[in-house]
Amino acid sequence: MFIRRTLKKFGPAMPFNCLNCKNDVYMNLIRIRKWFVVLIYPIPFYSKYFLKCNTCGWTIRLTSREQIQAAKQLCQVTLAFNKGEMTKEKYLEAVQGLKPEQFMPARPNPELMKQAA
Ligand SMILES: [Zn+2]
Repeated sequence: MFIRRTLKKFGPAMPFNCLNCKNDVYMNLIRIRKWFVVLIYPIPFYSKYFLKCNTCGWTIRLTSREQIQAAKQLCQVTLAFNKGEMTKEKYLEAVQGLKPEQFMPARPNPELMKQAA
């Protein structure tokens, strides 16, 4: 038996002014999962979600199912916005509707949206 660690990247969740490095960045949603591998069968025993600054690596741990769900939806609306499928106003409305303040220590800054786009 051995332990395997996997990292899943869900992509950018939200433009944000990082509290650690002070850069205007995307917080990216990631999941770290650890598996026991018994013979050839992987069994997950650890699964944690984080939002991670793509510049300095600073992370915020997501602690509830609601937060994880909201972060995944943020990734979807951010992707749609970056593809040009959404106006800035609609995007901002969608982001605020997902209440990022439930896991971000600050609100998203609308001015960062155009830099992040
Ligand atoms: Zn940072």
